[in-house]
Formats: sequence, structure tokens, C-alpha cells
Amino acid sequence: MRINVIRSSMPPFEEYMEKIRPLWESVWLTNMGALHNELAKRLEEYLEVPNVSLFVNGHMALEMVLQAMDLEGEVITTPFTFASTTHAIVRNNLTPVFCDIEPDNYTIDAGRIESLITDRTCAIVPVHVYGCICDVEAVEQIARSHGLKVIYDAAHAFGVKYKGKGIGNFGDASMFSFHATKVFHTIEGGAITTDDEELMDRLWKLKDFGIKNEDIVDGIGANAKMNEFCAAMGLCNLEHIDGEIEKRRLVFERYMDNLSGIDGISLLKPQKDVTPNYAYYPVIINEKEFGANRQQVIDALAEEDIHVRKYFYPLTSDMDCYRGRFDSSLTPVAKWAADRAVTLPMSASLDLHDVDRICDIVRNLRGK
Ligand SMILES: *Cc1c(COP(=O)(O)O)cnc(C)c1O
Repeated sequence: MRINVIRSSMPPFEEYMEKIRPLWESVWLTNMGALHNELAKRLEEYLEVPNVSLFVNGHMALEMVLQAMDLEGEVITTPFTFASTTHAIVRNNLTPVFCDIEPDNYTIDAGRIESLITDRTCAIVPVHVYGCICDVEAVEQIARSHGLKVIYDAAHAFGVKYKGKGIGNFGDASMFSFHATKVFHTIEGGAITTDDEELMDRLWKLKDFGIKNEDIVDGIGANAKMNEFCAAMGLCNLEHIDGEIEKRRLVFERYMDNLSGIDGISLLKPQKDVTPNYAYYPVIINEKEFGANRQQVIDALAEEDIHVRKYFYPLTSDMDCYRGRFDSSLTPVAKWAADRAVTLPMSASLDLHDVDRICDIVRNLRGK
């Protein structure tokens, strides 16, 4: 049977049916309906954050939070991420300035941020990539001393905690993605978390055409609201999320047991003081020591109908749409990782015997 890099979590069919049944009574399908409002409240509790603003998807949430902050100039960010992060910056007429990443957890290298700050720098957009958290303390200190905004792309970090504190509490705002492929999903969806009430008001308007009330439209907004069917999926999935993360933990540990100590394969290391969510299982294949390269690993798995991904390749700074604009040789660690990373299948429903099978295929390539 085909195994994909990701398999969406599904709640029991009947639970979803029960959740959407009231919509046939109310016929209130979108525009901040009852399920939307309930999900926002439940997520504030689960993520332990003061405010959650729900969106149609994570990307629009990120675009709109940048817009809501009225930023101008340069934004320091990472190229080792999904296209969305960089596109959200560029689509706001901001200039991304790429900072290199840490070699062991692939997050922005906070020690290099300060050297990239100019008098045009307005914000930092780091990514908790693979659910690994950035050095939030160092980032906060730099931002404070230079008067910069910090917006985290926390698309991968649902439910992650640092020193017991929900990861959505760091920086000025964080964006979560609830896309079907993420740890927690609403089919399509996303959210901003922030403690800034005024920012919440701006987001509320921006995602609803800038409408203040029936008579006043005082913002140039767009449409990025979450509908009731997506909110219903979120409410159902939230009931099961702890169990799903626990199943991911078993998969993660099975991979670790199988693959640790193999020359030329680098694994994610658990981070100190972090409660993880086991979102992805990336490995770095170092051809010299391992004896086979990433493409050979991908091909060998594909032959067994196991389909993995080069997350994240290419670097966003190397994408065709940005050709000639950025120099990825300035972020050598990111380039190194992008050329060697492969994310192995990871989902709550992945059978542990399949994990063993995947690891056997990888191990058998050694020295070939
Ligand atoms: C998924 C993802 C996004 C975008 O989220 P969508 O909900 O798919 O719009 C942004 N950044 C990263 C790092 C992601 O993985």
C-alpha cells in the first residue's frame, strides 16, 4: 500500500456529522459563526494564548499580520522554509534579508541576526521549522534592543511548548497553519496568536474586507475568514489531538531507534526545555559518510511505493520566482541542509512496522 510523507488525521465520520448538523438549522455557514467562535476559544485554551484570530489558511494569516503591522523596509528571515514565509514578506512589498540557520535544528541562527540589521530593518520572521523552536530568548533580546517586530511562522509548531509555555506566546505574533497536512488541521485554515488587542481588531477587519460595521468600511481588507465546516473539522480534531501527538511520538522514537548511530545520517535532536509535537521526521543524508545520496534514498523508497519529500528544497531564496535577487551562498548552512534533507513519512496513523520497513530500505543503501 502506498505510503505518503504525510497522512491527514481524520476524526470519526459520525463525530463530524454531529458537529455540522446544527448548520442545517442555523444556515449560518461562514462569517464568524458559532463554530468559528467556539474553535477560537478552544484554541486559546489549548495553545494557552490570550487571543486566537482564525483565518482561511496559514498563509493569509501571515500576509495579513504583516500588513496589519504597517511595516516598511527589510525583514530578517530564513530561506529554509516553505515558499509561504518568503512570499508573505514579498507580497507585502517588504524585502526579505536571509539569515543562515543552525546546523542541528535548522532554525534561524540568532547569533547572525544582528549583523544583518540595517536602518531599514523593521521585523524578524523566524520559522519554528519542523516544530523545532527558534532561540526565542535571543530573538526577543535582539528585537527589543533594536525596536523590531517579531512574527513567528509557527506553521509546524502546533502544541509545542517552551519551558511549559505555549509557543504562540513568543514575539509580537505567531502564525499557525491548520492545513490538512499539519499536526492539527481544519482542512484548510490558520490562525494568528497575539497578546495585542489592537492587532486583533485590525486582523478582524482585514480578513473581512475592512468592514468596521454595517455603515463603515475604513480598511482596505480582503477576505480570509474561516468557514463553519472547517471550524467543525477543527473542533473534532481538537478532541483527539493529544492522542494523535502521542502516536506521532511512538513513530518518532521508532525512527530514532532504527536510524541513530548510522554514519552519514543526521537526525533531529530533542531540544532542551521543549515539549515537542513530532510534526516531521527530517534526516540529513551526508553522501560521503553514508555512501549513498539523498536522491538514491528517495528512489529506493519510491520503488517500494513510499513517497518522501525534499523538505525544504530549494531554499526560498533559490526559487525561480526570485531568480537573480538573492545570493544563497550567503547562507551556507541552509544551502547544505537544503541539498541533503529528506523528510520521511510521519503521521499518527503510520504503522510502526512500516517505520521499520522504511528504515531497512534506508539502511540497506549504506555504502552502495
Ligand atoms: C504550511 C505552511 C505555511 C502555510 O500554511 P497554509 O495553511 O498551507 O497556508 C506557511 N509556512 C510554513 C513553514 C508551512 O509549512
